[in-house]
Amino acid sequence: MLNKTFFLAVVMTVLLVLPCAAESIEGLSLHVQKIEPGVVRVWVGDYISSTAVCAIATRKGIVVIDTTNIPKLDQAFRKVIAKELGRSDFKYLINTHGHGDHTHGNGVYADCRIIAHEGVTARMWENLKDVPRLIAWNKEAVQEQKDQIASGKLNDTQKAVAAEQLIISTLTGEFLNSAPRPTYPTKTFRDKLVLDCGDVTLELYQSGGTHTRSDIFILVPQKGILFTGDMMADKWLSDTPGCLATFAIQSGTMADYPVLVKNWQSLIDRQNEIKHYIPGHWNGELSFVGFQNRFNYLKTMLADMETLVKSRGDFNQFRADYSLKNKFPHLVGSPGMTAQGHQMSINHLFQVFSGRIGLSAALQGPIMDNRFAEEFPALKADILKSREKYFFTEADLIGLGYFLMQQLKKSDNAVEMFQLCVELFPDSWNAFDSLAEAYYTKGDMQKALELYRKSLELNPNNENGKKFIERIEQELAK
Ligand SMILES: [Zn+2]
Repeated sequence: MLNKTFFLAVVMTVLLVLPCAAESIEGLSLHVQKIEPGVVRVWVGDYISSTAVCAIATRKGIVVIDTTNIPKLDQAFRKVIAKELGRSDFKYLINTHGHGDHTHGNGVYADCRIIAHEGVTARMWENLKDVPRLIAWNKEAVQEQKDQIASGKLNDTQKAVAAEQLIISTLTGEFLNSAPRPTYPTKTFRDKLVLDCGDVTLELYQSGGTHTRSDIFILVPQKGILFTGDMMADKWLSDTPGCLATFAIQSGTMADYPVLVKNWQSLIDRQNEIKHYIPGHWNGELSFVGFQNRFNYLKTMLADMETLVKSRGDFNQFRADYSLKNKFPHLVGSPGMTAQGHQMSINHLFQVFSGRIGLSAALQGPIMDNRFAEEFPALKADILKSREKYFFTEADLIGLGYFLMQQLKKSDNAVEMFQLCVELFPDSWNAFDSLAEAYYTKGDMQKALELYRKSLELNPNNENGKKFIERIEQELAK
Protein backbone atom coordinates (compact mmCIF):
# COMPACT_ATOMS: atom_id res chain seq x y z
CA MET A 1 0.00 0.00 0.00
CA LEU A 2 1.26 3.39 -0.86
CA ASN A 3 0.82 5.52 2.23
CA LYS A 4 1.49 9.22 2.50
CA THR A 5 4.73 8.88 4.45
CA PHE A 6 6.13 6.46 1.92
CA PHE A 7 5.08 8.78 -0.90
CA LEU A 8 6.80 11.73 0.79
CA ALA A 9 9.89 9.67 1.40
CA VAL A 10 10.03 8.79 -2.30
CA VAL A 11 9.65 12.44 -3.29
CA MET A 12 12.32 13.51 -0.80
CA THR A 13 14.68 10.82 -2.03
CA VAL A 14 14.23 11.94 -5.61
CA LEU A 15 14.81 15.55 -4.59
CA LEU A 16 17.91 14.62 -2.62
CA VAL A 17 19.30 12.47 -5.39
CA LEU A 18 18.70 14.99 -8.15
CA PRO A 19 21.50 17.44 -7.26
CA CYS A 20 23.91 14.49 -7.01
CA ALA A 21 22.96 13.31 -10.49
CA ALA A 22 23.76 16.79 -11.76
CA GLU A 23 27.14 16.56 -10.04
CA SER A 24 28.58 14.44 -12.77
CA ILE A 25 29.83 15.22 -16.25
CA GLU A 26 29.66 12.64 -19.03
CA GLY A 27 29.18 9.94 -16.38
CA LEU A 28 32.24 11.01 -14.37
CA SER A 29 31.78 12.41 -10.89
CA LEU A 30 32.45 16.14 -10.67
CA HIS A 31 34.65 17.57 -7.92
CA VAL A 32 34.91 21.20 -6.92
CA GLN A 33 37.45 22.24 -4.30
CA LYS A 34 37.61 25.74 -2.86
CA ILE A 35 41.30 26.36 -2.21
CA GLU A 36 40.99 29.93 -0.94
CA PRO A 37 38.28 32.58 -1.25
CA GLY A 38 37.88 33.23 -4.97
CA VAL A 39 39.97 30.22 -6.01
CA VAL A 40 38.40 26.93 -7.17
CA ARG A 41 39.79 23.68 -8.51
CA VAL A 42 37.59 21.47 -10.70
CA TRP A 43 38.07 17.91 -11.96
CA VAL A 44 36.22 14.73 -12.82
CA GLY A 45 36.69 11.16 -11.66
CA ASP A 46 37.58 9.38 -8.45
CA TYR A 47 40.34 7.07 -9.63
CA ILE A 48 42.03 8.15 -12.82
CA SER A 49 44.61 10.91 -12.83
CA SER A 50 42.62 13.60 -14.59
CA THR A 51 43.67 17.24 -14.99
CA ALA A 52 42.51 19.61 -12.29
CA VAL A 53 41.54 22.99 -13.74
CA CYS A 54 41.91 25.98 -11.43
CA ALA A 55 40.26 29.39 -11.61
CA ILE A 56 40.98 32.60 -9.73
CA ALA A 57 38.59 35.54 -9.45
CA THR A 58 40.47 38.83 -9.86
CA ARG A 59 39.47 42.44 -10.31
CA LYS A 60 40.42 42.22 -13.99
CA GLY A 61 38.42 39.05 -14.59
CA ILE A 62 38.64 35.30 -14.10
CA VAL A 63 42.01 33.64 -14.66
CA VAL A 64 41.84 29.95 -15.58
CA ILE A 65 44.84 27.67 -15.20
CA ASP A 66 44.97 24.77 -17.68
CA THR A 67 42.40 22.95 -19.73
CA THR A 68 41.89 19.19 -20.03
CA ASN A 69 42.48 16.90 -23.01
CA ILE A 70 38.74 16.88 -23.80
CA PRO A 71 37.14 20.22 -24.79
CA LYS A 72 33.69 18.86 -23.91
CA LEU A 73 34.81 18.65 -20.28
CA ASP A 74 36.19 22.17 -20.43
CA GLN A 75 32.89 23.51 -21.75
CA ALA A 76 31.21 21.99 -18.71
CA PHE A 77 33.99 23.19 -16.37
CA ARG A 78 33.63 26.74 -17.66
CA LYS A 79 29.97 26.71 -16.53
CA VAL A 80 30.87 25.15 -13.18
CA ILE A 81 33.55 27.79 -12.57
CA ALA A 82 31.16 30.62 -13.48
CA LYS A 83 28.56 29.23 -11.08
CA GLU A 84 31.07 28.72 -8.26
CA LEU A 85 32.61 32.18 -8.59
CA GLY A 86 29.25 33.83 -9.31
CA ARG A 87 30.53 35.60 -12.43
CA SER A 88 31.49 34.84 -16.00
CA ASP A 89 34.04 37.49 -17.00
CA PHE A 90 36.73 35.06 -18.17
CA LYS A 91 39.84 37.06 -19.00
CA TYR A 92 42.96 34.88 -19.10
CA LEU A 93 43.86 31.25 -19.61
CA ILE A 94 47.33 30.11 -18.54
CA ASN A 95 48.78 26.73 -19.60
CA THR A 96 51.21 25.22 -17.09
CA HIS A 97 52.85 23.32 -19.98
CA GLY A 98 52.15 22.10 -23.48
CA HIS A 99 50.91 18.53 -22.93
CA GLY A 100 47.55 17.71 -24.52
CA ASP A 101 45.90 17.12 -21.15
CA HIS A 102 46.63 20.76 -20.27
CA THR A 103 45.94 22.43 -23.62
CA HIS A 104 43.47 20.52 -25.79
CA GLY A 105 40.55 22.43 -24.33
CA ASN A 106 42.14 25.85 -25.04
CA GLY A 107 39.53 26.53 -27.73
CA VAL A 108 36.88 26.82 -25.01
CA TYR A 109 38.71 29.99 -23.91
CA ALA A 110 39.39 31.37 -27.38
CA ASP A 111 37.75 34.64 -26.22
CA CYS A 112 40.48 35.06 -23.58
CA ARG A 113 44.16 35.91 -23.72
CA ILE A 114 46.03 32.64 -23.56
CA ILE A 115 49.39 32.88 -21.81
CA ALA A 116 52.13 30.25 -21.71
CA HIS A 117 55.84 29.60 -21.92
CA GLU A 118 57.20 29.98 -25.45
CA GLY A 119 57.82 26.22 -25.64
CA VAL A 120 54.09 25.44 -25.39
CA THR A 121 53.23 26.19 -29.02
CA ALA A 122 55.78 23.70 -30.37
CA ARG A 123 54.64 21.07 -27.89
CA MET A 124 50.98 21.55 -28.83
CA TRP A 125 51.86 21.15 -32.48
CA GLU A 126 53.71 17.93 -31.62
CA ASN A 127 50.71 16.62 -29.66
CA LEU A 128 48.43 16.52 -32.67
CA LYS A 129 51.02 16.00 -35.41
CA ASP A 130 49.98 12.45 -35.93
CA VAL A 131 46.20 12.33 -35.46
CA PRO A 132 45.52 9.18 -37.56
CA ARG A 133 47.92 7.16 -35.46
CA LEU A 134 46.52 8.60 -32.24
CA ILE A 135 43.05 7.57 -33.42
CA ALA A 136 44.28 4.02 -34.08
CA TRP A 137 45.91 3.81 -30.63
CA ASN A 138 42.83 5.20 -28.99
CA LYS A 139 40.64 2.61 -30.73
CA GLU A 140 42.89 -0.16 -29.43
CA ALA A 141 42.79 1.28 -25.91
CA VAL A 142 38.99 1.48 -25.96
CA GLN A 143 38.73 -2.14 -27.09
CA GLU A 144 41.22 -3.30 -24.45
CA GLN A 145 39.30 -1.51 -21.72
CA LYS A 146 35.99 -2.99 -22.91
CA ASP A 147 37.53 -6.47 -22.96
CA GLN A 148 38.91 -5.97 -19.47
CA ILE A 149 35.53 -4.96 -18.10
CA ALA A 150 33.82 -7.85 -19.91
CA SER A 151 36.40 -10.38 -18.67
CA GLY A 152 34.71 -10.55 -15.26
CA LYS A 153 38.15 -10.78 -13.66
CA LEU A 154 38.17 -7.29 -12.12
CA ASN A 155 37.35 -6.57 -8.50
CA ASP A 156 35.03 -3.67 -7.67
CA THR A 157 37.75 -1.02 -7.52
CA GLN A 158 39.40 -2.23 -10.71
CA LYS A 159 35.99 -2.16 -12.39
CA ALA A 160 35.45 1.43 -11.28
CA VAL A 161 38.91 2.43 -12.54
CA ALA A 162 38.33 0.70 -15.88
CA ALA A 163 34.89 2.31 -16.25
CA GLU A 164 36.41 5.77 -15.76
CA GLN A 165 39.23 5.02 -18.14
CA LEU A 166 36.76 3.85 -20.76
CA ILE A 167 34.73 7.06 -20.53
CA ILE A 168 37.89 9.17 -20.86
CA SER A 169 39.18 7.10 -23.80
CA THR A 170 35.80 7.28 -25.55
CA LEU A 171 35.64 11.05 -25.13
CA THR A 172 39.26 11.34 -26.30
CA GLY A 173 38.36 9.30 -29.37
CA GLU A 174 35.43 11.63 -30.13
CA PHE A 175 37.77 14.60 -29.83
CA LEU A 176 40.45 13.08 -32.07
CA ASN A 177 37.87 12.19 -34.70
CA SER A 178 36.55 15.76 -34.79
CA ALA A 179 39.57 17.01 -36.84
CA PRO A 180 40.95 18.92 -33.84
CA ARG A 181 42.81 22.18 -34.34
CA PRO A 182 45.00 23.53 -31.55
CA THR A 183 44.21 26.90 -30.03
CA TYR A 184 47.69 28.27 -29.40
CA PRO A 185 48.76 30.77 -26.74
CA THR A 186 48.33 34.39 -27.75
CA LYS A 187 51.07 35.64 -25.44
CA THR A 188 54.23 33.73 -24.61
CA PHE A 189 57.30 34.45 -22.50
CA ARG A 190 60.69 32.91 -21.85
CA ASP A 191 62.03 33.37 -18.28
CA LYS A 192 59.44 35.23 -16.22
CA LEU A 193 56.21 37.13 -16.66
CA VAL A 194 54.16 39.06 -14.11
CA LEU A 195 50.47 39.36 -14.74
CA ASP A 196 48.91 42.23 -12.82
CA CYS A 197 45.22 41.52 -12.27
CA GLY A 198 44.55 44.43 -9.90
CA ASP A 199 43.99 42.83 -6.50
CA VAL A 200 45.85 39.66 -7.49
CA THR A 201 49.25 39.21 -9.13
CA LEU A 202 50.31 36.09 -10.96
CA GLU A 203 54.04 35.48 -11.26
CA LEU A 204 54.92 33.01 -14.01
CA TYR A 205 58.35 31.37 -13.84
CA GLN A 206 60.01 29.24 -16.51
CA SER A 207 60.77 25.84 -15.01
CA GLY A 208 61.45 23.76 -18.13
CA GLY A 209 63.58 20.69 -17.72
CA THR A 210 61.75 18.53 -15.21
CA HIS A 211 58.66 17.48 -17.18
CA THR A 212 58.66 19.24 -20.53
CA ARG A 213 60.65 22.16 -21.86
CA SER A 214 57.57 24.32 -21.53
CA ASP A 215 56.73 24.02 -17.81
CA ILE A 216 56.12 26.97 -15.54
CA PHE A 217 55.53 27.61 -11.85
CA ILE A 218 52.73 30.06 -11.13
CA LEU A 219 52.92 31.96 -7.85
CA VAL A 220 49.88 33.85 -6.59
CA PRO A 221 51.19 35.56 -3.44
CA GLN A 222 47.90 37.21 -2.42
CA LYS A 223 46.27 33.77 -2.26
CA GLY A 224 49.33 31.95 -0.89
CA ILE A 225 49.30 29.47 -3.77
CA LEU A 226 52.00 27.99 -5.97
CA PHE A 227 50.81 26.00 -8.98
CA THR A 228 53.38 23.39 -9.97
CA GLY A 229 51.78 21.76 -13.03
CA ASP A 230 52.83 18.17 -13.68
CA MET A 231 56.36 18.53 -12.40
CA MET A 232 55.99 16.80 -9.07
CA ALA A 233 53.97 15.54 -6.13
CA ASP A 234 55.11 13.88 -2.93
CA LYS A 235 51.83 12.18 -2.12
CA TRP A 236 49.53 10.30 -4.48
CA LEU A 237 45.86 10.08 -3.64
CA SER A 238 45.12 7.28 -6.11
CA ASP A 239 46.92 4.25 -7.53
CA THR A 240 46.98 5.84 -10.97
CA PRO A 241 49.60 8.61 -10.71
CA GLY A 242 49.48 9.33 -14.46
CA CYS A 243 51.63 12.31 -15.40
CA LEU A 244 52.88 12.63 -11.81
CA ALA A 245 54.42 9.14 -11.89
CA THR A 246 57.99 10.25 -12.56
CA PHE A 247 60.06 13.15 -11.40
CA ALA A 248 63.00 13.37 -13.77
CA ILE A 249 65.37 16.06 -14.92
CA GLN A 250 64.97 15.92 -18.66
CA SER A 251 63.52 17.64 -21.69
CA GLY A 252 65.65 20.63 -20.89
CA THR A 253 68.47 22.35 -22.73
CA MET A 254 71.64 23.82 -21.29
CA ALA A 255 70.16 27.32 -21.29
CA ASP A 256 67.09 26.21 -19.31
CA TYR A 257 68.89 24.95 -16.24
CA PRO A 258 70.46 28.14 -14.81
CA VAL A 259 67.07 29.89 -15.18
CA LEU A 260 65.28 26.97 -13.57
CA VAL A 261 67.67 26.96 -10.60
CA LYS A 262 67.33 30.72 -10.13
CA ASN A 263 63.54 30.66 -10.39
CA TRP A 264 63.10 27.64 -8.17
CA GLN A 265 65.47 29.06 -5.53
CA SER A 266 63.52 32.33 -5.47
CA LEU A 267 60.34 30.35 -4.73
CA ILE A 268 62.07 28.36 -1.97
CA ASP A 269 63.11 31.69 -0.45
CA ARG A 270 59.49 32.79 -0.39
CA GLN A 271 58.33 29.75 1.55
CA ASN A 272 56.55 31.98 4.09
CA GLU A 273 54.25 33.35 1.39
CA ILE A 274 53.09 29.92 0.17
CA LYS A 275 50.36 27.94 1.92
CA HIS A 276 49.32 25.62 -0.92
CA TYR A 277 51.41 23.76 -3.48
CA ILE A 278 48.96 22.69 -6.19
CA PRO A 279 49.87 20.03 -8.79
CA GLY A 280 48.17 19.92 -12.18
CA HIS A 281 46.30 16.68 -11.53
CA TRP A 282 43.85 16.21 -8.66
CA ASN A 283 45.44 13.02 -7.33
CA GLY A 284 48.77 14.51 -6.31
CA GLU A 285 49.67 16.58 -3.28
CA LEU A 286 52.86 18.45 -2.65
CA SER A 287 54.44 19.69 0.58
CA PHE A 288 57.14 22.31 1.00
CA VAL A 289 59.57 19.59 2.05
CA GLY A 290 58.81 17.58 -1.11
CA PHE A 291 59.26 20.72 -3.20
CA GLN A 292 62.56 21.57 -1.49
CA ASN A 293 63.91 17.99 -1.68
CA ARG A 294 63.33 17.88 -5.41
CA PHE A 295 65.04 21.24 -5.83
CA ASN A 296 68.10 20.01 -3.90
CA TYR A 297 68.14 16.86 -6.01
CA LEU A 298 68.15 18.95 -9.19
CA LYS A 299 70.83 21.34 -7.92
CA THR A 300 73.12 18.53 -6.75
CA MET A 301 72.74 16.56 -9.99
CA LEU A 302 73.48 19.62 -12.12
CA ALA A 303 76.61 20.46 -10.13
CA ASP A 304 77.90 16.87 -10.07
CA MET A 305 77.30 16.40 -13.78
CA GLU A 306 79.12 19.62 -14.61
CA THR A 307 82.10 18.46 -12.53
CA LEU A 308 82.10 15.04 -14.19
CA VAL A 309 82.08 16.45 -17.70
CA LYS A 310 84.68 19.15 -16.95
CA SER A 311 87.03 16.61 -15.38
CA ARG A 312 86.42 14.18 -18.26
CA GLY A 313 85.43 11.49 -15.78
CA ASP A 314 84.22 8.02 -16.70
CA PHE A 315 80.51 8.35 -17.28
CA ASN A 316 79.69 4.66 -17.03
CA GLN A 317 81.46 4.43 -13.68
CA PHE A 318 79.69 7.59 -12.52
CA ARG A 319 76.34 6.19 -13.58
CA ALA A 320 76.96 2.94 -11.76
CA ASP A 321 77.94 4.72 -8.50
CA TYR A 322 75.37 7.50 -8.67
CA SER A 323 72.28 5.52 -7.72
CA LEU A 324 69.32 7.07 -5.96
CA LYS A 325 70.09 4.79 -3.01
CA ASN A 326 73.73 5.91 -2.74
CA LYS A 327 73.30 9.60 -3.38
CA PHE A 328 69.77 10.50 -2.31
CA PRO A 329 68.67 7.81 0.16
CA HIS A 330 66.00 10.11 1.66
CA LEU A 331 64.25 10.20 -1.72
CA VAL A 332 64.02 6.43 -2.21
CA GLY A 333 60.34 5.53 -2.19
CA SER A 334 59.18 9.15 -2.40
CA PRO A 335 56.42 9.46 -5.02
CA GLY A 336 57.82 9.95 -8.51
CA MET A 337 61.41 9.19 -7.50
CA THR A 338 62.13 5.94 -9.31
CA ALA A 339 65.41 4.23 -10.17
CA GLN A 340 64.37 4.38 -13.83
CA GLY A 341 63.51 8.10 -13.73
CA HIS A 342 66.82 8.74 -11.98
CA GLN A 343 68.72 6.93 -14.76
CA MET A 344 66.78 8.95 -17.33
CA SER A 345 67.85 12.14 -15.55
CA ILE A 346 71.50 11.09 -15.45
CA ASN A 347 71.53 10.13 -19.14
CA HIS A 348 69.72 13.28 -20.16
CA LEU A 349 72.01 15.58 -18.18
CA PHE A 350 75.12 13.85 -19.47
CA GLN A 351 73.84 14.34 -22.99
CA VAL A 352 73.14 18.02 -22.36
CA PHE A 353 76.46 18.74 -20.61
CA SER A 354 78.79 16.62 -22.76
CA GLY A 355 77.13 17.20 -26.11
CA ARG A 356 77.34 13.43 -26.68
CA ILE A 357 74.34 11.44 -27.80
CA GLY A 358 72.73 8.86 -25.54
CA LEU A 359 72.00 5.85 -27.68
CA SER A 360 68.93 4.79 -25.71
CA ALA A 361 67.39 8.24 -26.06
CA ALA A 362 68.37 8.44 -29.76
CA LEU A 363 66.67 5.12 -30.48
CA GLN A 364 63.55 5.72 -28.46
CA GLY A 365 61.80 7.63 -31.25
CA PRO A 366 62.66 5.20 -34.09
CA ILE A 367 61.66 2.22 -31.93
CA MET A 368 58.37 3.63 -30.71
CA ASP A 369 57.42 5.22 -34.04
CA ASN A 370 58.15 2.15 -36.11
CA ARG A 371 61.10 3.75 -37.90
CA PHE A 372 63.76 1.38 -36.57
CA ALA A 373 64.33 -0.73 -39.71
CA GLU A 374 64.56 2.40 -41.81
CA GLU A 375 66.86 4.47 -39.58
CA PHE A 376 69.03 1.97 -37.76
CA PRO A 377 71.52 1.14 -40.56
CA ALA A 378 72.69 4.77 -40.90
CA LEU A 379 72.85 5.20 -37.13
CA LYS A 380 74.79 1.97 -36.76
CA ALA A 381 77.30 3.01 -39.43
CA ASP A 382 77.80 6.32 -37.63
CA ILE A 383 78.27 4.65 -34.23
CA LEU A 384 80.89 2.29 -35.65
CA LYS A 385 82.64 5.19 -37.38
CA SER A 386 82.50 7.79 -34.58
CA ARG A 387 81.93 5.88 -31.38
CA GLU A 388 83.03 8.83 -29.19
CA LYS A 389 80.03 10.87 -30.34
CA TYR A 390 77.71 8.46 -28.49
CA PHE A 391 77.41 7.06 -25.03
CA PHE A 392 75.92 3.72 -24.04
CA THR A 393 76.68 0.57 -22.13
CA GLU A 394 76.41 -3.03 -23.18
CA ALA A 395 73.41 -3.32 -20.86
CA ASP A 396 71.70 -0.42 -22.69
CA LEU A 397 72.00 -2.21 -26.03
CA ILE A 398 70.88 -5.54 -24.63
CA GLY A 399 67.94 -3.89 -22.88
CA LEU A 400 66.82 -2.25 -26.14
CA GLY A 401 67.18 -5.55 -28.01
CA TYR A 402 65.00 -7.41 -25.51
CA PHE A 403 62.46 -4.62 -25.60
CA LEU A 404 62.23 -5.03 -29.40
CA MET A 405 62.05 -8.80 -29.15
CA GLN A 406 59.78 -9.34 -26.14
CA GLN A 407 57.59 -6.24 -25.87
CA LEU A 408 57.28 -5.34 -29.53
CA LYS A 409 57.70 -8.88 -30.94
CA LYS A 410 60.12 -7.61 -33.57
CA SER A 411 62.83 -10.26 -33.62
CA ASP A 412 64.27 -8.97 -36.94
CA ASN A 413 64.92 -5.60 -35.32
CA ALA A 414 66.24 -7.31 -32.19
CA VAL A 415 68.76 -9.24 -34.32
CA GLU A 416 70.02 -5.91 -35.71
CA MET A 417 70.32 -4.45 -32.23
CA PHE A 418 72.16 -7.47 -30.75
CA GLN A 419 74.36 -7.67 -33.85
CA LEU A 420 75.58 -4.15 -33.14
CA CYS A 421 76.16 -5.19 -29.54
CA VAL A 422 78.45 -8.10 -30.50
CA GLU A 423 80.34 -5.84 -32.90
CA LEU A 424 80.92 -3.28 -30.15
CA PHE A 425 81.54 -5.82 -27.39
CA PRO A 426 83.14 -8.79 -29.18
CA ASP A 427 84.29 -10.36 -25.89
CA SER A 428 80.86 -10.35 -24.30
CA TRP A 429 79.31 -13.81 -23.87
CA ASN A 430 76.04 -12.13 -22.93
CA ALA A 431 75.90 -10.20 -26.21
CA PHE A 432 76.34 -13.46 -28.17
CA ASP A 433 73.80 -15.23 -25.96
CA SER A 434 71.26 -12.47 -26.65
CA LEU A 435 71.90 -12.49 -30.39
CA ALA A 436 71.51 -16.27 -30.36
CA GLU A 437 68.15 -15.93 -28.61
CA ALA A 438 66.93 -13.43 -31.20
CA TYR A 439 67.81 -15.87 -34.03
CA TYR A 440 66.14 -18.67 -32.09
CA THR A 441 62.98 -16.56 -31.75
CA LYS A 442 63.11 -15.84 -35.47
CA GLY A 443 63.30 -19.59 -36.12
CA ASP A 444 66.88 -19.67 -37.49
CA MET A 445 68.07 -22.65 -35.44
CA GLN A 446 71.41 -23.15 -37.22
CA LYS A 447 72.50 -19.57 -36.63
CA ALA A 448 71.25 -19.67 -33.03
CA LEU A 449 73.26 -22.83 -32.36
CA GLU A 450 76.42 -21.33 -33.80
CA LEU A 451 76.06 -18.20 -31.64
CA TYR A 452 75.24 -20.09 -28.44
CA ARG A 453 78.41 -22.11 -29.01
CA LYS A 454 80.39 -18.88 -29.42
CA SER A 455 78.86 -17.55 -26.19
CA LEU A 456 79.88 -20.73 -24.37
CA GLU A 457 83.42 -20.40 -25.68
CA LEU A 458 83.57 -16.98 -24.02
CA ASN A 459 81.90 -18.19 -20.84
CA PRO A 460 81.83 -21.93 -20.25
CA ASN A 461 79.51 -21.33 -17.27
CA ASN A 462 76.70 -19.92 -19.40
CA GLU A 463 73.99 -22.31 -18.18
CA ASN A 464 71.26 -20.66 -20.26
CA GLY A 465 73.37 -21.23 -23.39
CA LYS A 466 73.89 -24.91 -22.53
CA LYS A 467 70.15 -25.43 -22.11
CA PHE A 468 69.39 -23.79 -25.45
CA ILE A 469 72.08 -25.79 -27.27
CA GLU A 470 70.56 -28.99 -25.95
CA ARG A 471 67.05 -27.90 -26.94
CA ILE A 472 68.13 -26.82 -30.45
CA GLU A 473 70.09 -30.02 -31.06
CA GLN A 474 67.01 -32.03 -30.14
CA GLU A 475 64.82 -29.94 -32.43
CA LEU A 476 67.28 -30.24 -35.31
CA ALA A 477 67.51 -34.01 -34.82
CA LYS A 478 63.75 -34.43 -35.32
ZN1 LIG B 1 52.08 16.76 -18.39
